[in-house]
Amino acid sequence: MPKNFKIRPRMRALLSPAVTKIEMAGFVAWIGVLLIAPMVTLNLPNILVTLSLLLVWHVHRVVAVFWIWRILGSVYILLLSLGFAHVIAQNIELRVFTLPLAVIIVLSNPILFVTAQDYFLSAILVWALMWPNLDVSLYRELEVYLAIFCIASVSIGFTLSFTYLRNMRSVLLVESEFRMLAETDFLTSILNRRAFMETFRNALTGGHSGYFIMLDIDSFKQKNDQYGHDVGDKILCAMAACLKSTPGSHSVGRIGGEEFGVLLLGSDNAVAHEYALRLLAGIRNSVMPPHKYTCSAGIAQFSATSDMSAVLKCADINMYKAKADGKDRVFQDGKRVKPPSPATT
Ligand code: GH3
Ligand code: MG
Ligand code: MG
Repeated sequence: MPKNFKIRPRMRALLSPAVTKIEMAGFVAWIGVLLIAPMVTLNLPNILVTLSLLLVWHVHRVVAVFWIWRILGSVYILLLSLGFAHVIAQNIELRVFTLPLAVIIVLSNPILFVTAQDYFLSAILVWALMWPNLDVSLYRELEVYLAIFCIASVSIGFTLSFTYLRNMRSVLLVESEFRMLAETDFLTSILNRRAFMETFRNALTGGHSGYFIMLDIDSFKQKNDQYGHDVGDKILCAMAACLKSTPGSHSVGRIGGEEFGVLLLGSDNAVAHEYALRLLAGIRNSVMPPHKYTCSAGIAQFSATSDMSAVLKCADINMYKAKADGKDRVFQDGKRVKPPSPATT
């Protein structure tokens, strides 16, 4: 599966804006609590919690490593709970709020997690941190209701987390499948014209320079007429397999019926020539007689400022020069590309 089709990092990309907002809301609530009674609450542990929350919030937004991002969701919730638990422990009259506070924290954070297990573990830890602050005397004879609040909040949160994660996963999987279908040539399973041109455009906008090679199978109509369309299709698949298995390219695609494109990055003519000649040699030997086939190639060099259609046209002109010169050869700048003579190697 291509990298951009991996599900969890894409889930992260979708969740991140909401995670940032929820964490900011938690932080504002925390600061609000500290400011209500600053003389009581502004002590070293609370200042440390404040700074840690800010740090975790910031790193959570920018960190690139997925597993660190995943852990930071739990770290944030636990820090916030630890902070509130500390404030309550210092202000006995606030103990009455422990129950609603724990329920709010547990129910408001399913969205911070990309797995329901992570959520579940964090919710249990939140309760473990908050429970010692519960004023049990308030609930004498009614302790069972405390357990019900605890179990119900974790179960509801877990169900929410599990359901939305499962739904998001299936939507992303369907999207990946459609994207794959939209970008892949049905017959040869390499990039289709649209996806290949997109790759080319990205290479240009990414500031890359390189070579575009246009390839066209020689006398393909004759192969079709002589051996049938199904053999023609097999030749197209053999050509695609050859393109995929020849090392050195950035990307390859089928850009027309029996026309293919190759992108090479770099600016060394010798490397591009060696690649093109090696590819044509591979193609020549990719199927057994009598279905052996050849192809002609035109090379066009490009830089980041090149106009894409001008590059395509230039490669096309060179490819037709190769055809006119006798086929099964490579042309660049109107001249035939030949293997270096032994004296120059
Ligand atoms: P040249 O050497 O000048 O390129 O000659 P050619 O016969 O390859 O070129 P031409 O453009 O005359 O013929 C291209 C043929 O490619 C015609 C068309 O039937 C065939 N073709 C296009 N797409 C497919 C396909 O998907 N499968 C098969 N089997 N044939 C295809
Ligand atoms: Mg053609
Ligand atoms: Mg052809």
